[in-house]
Order: sequence, then structure tokens, then C-alpha cells
Amino acid sequence: MLKKFWKFGLMSIMAVFLLAACSNDDKGQTSEKEEGDTPSNDKEKLQLVATFSIIHDILNEVGGELVDVHSMVPIGTDPHEYEPLPEDIKKATDADALFYNGLNLEGGDSGWFSKLVSTVKKSDDQVFEVMEGVEPMYLTSDDGQEEEINPHAFLSPAVGIQMVENVMKGLIEIDPDNKATYEENGAKFLEELKAIDKMYEEKINEIPEEKRILVTSERAFQYMTDRYGLKEGYIWAIDTEENGTPEQIKSLVEFIKENNIDTLFVESNVDKRPMETVAKETGAEIFAEIYSDELGKPGSEGETYTGFLKSNIETIHAGLTK
Ligand SMILES: [Zn+2]
Repeated sequence: MLKKFWKFGLMSIMAVFLLAACSNDDKGQTSEKEEGDTPSNDKEKLQLVATFSIIHDILNEVGGELVDVHSMVPIGTDPHEYEPLPEDIKKATDADALFYNGLNLEGGDSGWFSKLVSTVKKSDDQVFEVMEGVEPMYLTSDDGQEEEINPHAFLSPAVGIQMVENVMKGLIEIDPDNKATYEENGAKFLEELKAIDKMYEEKINEIPEEKRILVTSERAFQYMTDRYGLKEGYIWAIDTEENGTPEQIKSLVEFIKENNIDTLFVESNVDKRPMETVAKETGAEIFAEIYSDELGKPGSEGETYTGFLKSNIETIHAGLTK
């Protein structure tokens, strides 16, 4: 009898412990969930990570109040080669989604962004390529042996339209409840970009035909010049190669002489010295800076994507009609 009681008693005590353990666990989970769902406003927003400034701006335009965006490559840093900081890794780990350019901008399949995606273990449905569906254009290496995708499609407003459509699609996919807001914000932004696309056509048509040649340091404007009918001259094909070698300068100097070019442009994010050498050797003038791999600094005309595009066409038009 005593033995039986003891056994029963022990089992009851164990049961109580087990119950207590279970309910504690439950409580733990519930309170964690509540924290995630409520107070801080920032936590309610979609947490997004963009690889660089242009995507950052597009996500903010389309996402508006619903998103909190961290941009990795800072203005003034090369997006072709980048080493993510501990903060980038943390934000990317916690993010609901990552948005990147693609077309090789972030170094392609073995580049820094691909490595980051595997480090932070994001699944395919959380990673969005903003250039999806954009027809790639190719660069040929100096020796003509290798072909490489030109990543700078965002310099063409026509491509900008596709980028915004992809961003809308991505945001709706990860946050379907707010579809209407993303569509509304996106539609407004698309209207602006369509007006800029038209502005490019008109402004370039105003330039005398023999002057429709854009000379820059890097061959970043290929998509833009192809779309709107400009010829292009450049010192180097892409930033990750050697920039401004004597052979590269010599070949641009010849191009300038052959085409009677008197106006050069230089990008805000490059070493200006190679273009200065070209100017000295040809007598052509460096007219002004234009934007290529990144938005302008806060407070400048190019601080937004639409401002960046408008500023470029205004500067190019002014230089080639002077
Ligand atoms: Zn570049």
C-alpha cells in the first residue's frame, strides 16, 4: 500500500514537473511571437537589403512606408568588387528579402553577392534579381578574346522601367497583403520613368547627328547609347580591369581624332586622371561629370534614381549642343 502510494506520488510529481516544463516552453514561444508582431514600428516594416544605391532608391520608392531598406555598397565604393561588412551580414541574415542588380554587377556567380547569399543562407524565393528579363549586352576584352556581360543597364531609363516592374513583382511576392500599395507606388514611379525615357529620345534628337558621340572613362553607357542612338567612346571596358593603361588611352585618342570629337565626359565615381590625359593629348574639353555606378551624394541632383537619370541627359545634351 505504502509502496503503491509512493510510486503514484512520484509519478504525480514528475507529471507536474513535465506540465510545468511544457507550459513554460509554450509561454516562451508566445511571448517571443508577440514581441515580433507588435511594438517597434521598424519591426513591422519589411526588412530589405539592396546591394547598392540605385536599388536602394527604387525599393524605397515602390515600398514607401512599408519597407526598411539597408543598402550595402556605400556611395564612393565600387559595386563590382565589395567586401560585405559585419553589419551587412547581420542585416542580410535578418532580412525578409535581398535585392541585387545581377548582369554581373556584383561579380557574377562567384562574386561577393553570391558568397553573401550562401553565408546568410537565404532561399531562392527571398533573393530577387532586379535585372531579370533584361537582354544582356556584352563587352569584349582589350585583346578581343573574352566576352563579358555589361552590368550597367540601369543607365538606360528604358531598362529602369523593367527594374521597377521587377521590384514591384518581388515586393508583391513576399508581401501579397500590401499588393495594392506596391502597385500604386510603382505606377507613379513608372510614369516618371516613362517621361524620362521620352526626354532622352527628345534631347538626343536635338543633338546634331555628327555630335552624337558620348565619350566616358568606363564603357558603362552601352545600353543607353544603344537605345537612344549615340555612338560611344571609352578608355576602359569595365572597372574591374586595368583602368587607363597607355594602350587604352592611345586607342581613345585615335577614336577622338577620327571622329572630330571636342567634348568629353567623366564619371563621378572614377579616377579623373586618365581622362585628363586624353583631354591634354587631343585638345578636347572635359565638359562635366556624369553619374554611372552610383547615385549622387545626398543633396546633389543625382541623389535619387530619377534625378540621376535626368541630370545625366541634361549634362550630355548641354555638352554636345554647346
Ligand atoms: Zn562600373
